Amino acid sequence: MIRRTSRQLRIGKVTVGGDTSVVVQSMTKTDTRDIHATINQLKQLEDCGCEIVRVAVPDKEAATSLATIKKGVSLPIIADIHFDYRLALGALKAGVDGLRLNPGNMGDKEQVSKVVAAAKEREVPIRIGVNAGSLPADFQPRAPLAERMGNMALEQIRFMESLDFSLIKVSLKAFDVPTTIQAYQMIADKMPYPLHLGVTEAGLPRTGAIRSAIGIGVLLYQGIGDTIRVSLTAYPCEEVFVAYEILKSLGLRQRGPTLVSCPSCGRADVDIIALAEAVNKRLEKISKPIKVAVMGCVVNGPGEAKDADVGIAGGKGKGAIFRKGKVVGTVSENRFLQALMTEIESLNERGL
Ligand code: SF4
Repeated sequence: MIRRTSRQLRIGKVTVGGDTSVVVQSMTKTDTRDIHATINQLKQLEDCGCEIVRVAVPDKEAATSLATIKKGVSLPIIADIHFDYRLALGALKAGVDGLRLNPGNMGDKEQVSKVVAAAKEREVPIRIGVNAGSLPADFQPRAPLAERMGNMALEQIRFMESLDFSLIKVSLKAFDVPTTIQAYQMIADKMPYPLHLGVTEAGLPRTGAIRSAIGIGVLLYQGIGDTIRVSLTAYPCEEVFVAYEILKSLGLRQRGPTLVSCPSCGRADVDIIALAEAVNKRLEKISKPIKVAVMGCVVNGPGEAKDADVGIAGGKGKGAIFRKGKVVGTVSENRFLQALMTEIESLNERGL
């Protein structure tokens, strides 16, 4: 996988673009005016591995709250601004690390110039965040949607460049996965700035994770993308979890354990679904990138999961514990979970 080379920029303490790892973002779902609740959610996001957080700024009170919120957390904060450029100026004054502007609903050049001047003075990057749903109807109405999205971003990029501003990041989000992919592909080699990937309004966790994994995953596999956000109708840490799973699946990041479990079949002598779920629950407490296999039988189990650091293959009344595909012991069925966890904990303590 060869990654597209993008221009590097800093969002607070986090470097984005260039040859740095793909960064995981999310967004708070609290009322930003509720400072206490927002700080709490930001801390939860930091604990679950989020690296940059976007915060909605719907009004002046929310913009003003950002100053106190910033003091309460170390995560870089991006202010999400729609319609009113004065909220962007307020957020910059409050000390945010980045802005997200939607060119579809903030088209007045004079107003955007004022925001760009203030961002430039503070060296704060701006994400040009195009959304399929908020494109002005009269903008290139005959062109395909993905092209319209890309062209709207390019137009805004050229305008910001004309103001001698280059701390730019770009996103082109749509609900439709092929449109999202085409829009990013279209713009990727037309400008040098980092790309933030996402499929917008992707839905509830089950379907939203799949839609996001396909949209974001295809692009990442093509080397496109510097930051990602999985948009789910769920608590934000769920978004972060799915984002890391996408990155882990492509070998782009490592975080926490990976569970390899067989689907079970007529050869299984144990309830593999219940066992895998119980192991998965226990793995939530482990932060090291350990690979654990839970397999339904000894015929294929150790071989199929030979990459796993540790695993179990169930059998009639007993099972085999294996490390890197090599059987290192047998245990009775009532001790499966306990024996596997003992192995995992000992590996975790010793270091992998
Ligand atoms: Fe079936 Fe065994 Fe493969 Fe699991 S590991 S799917 S039980 S053959």
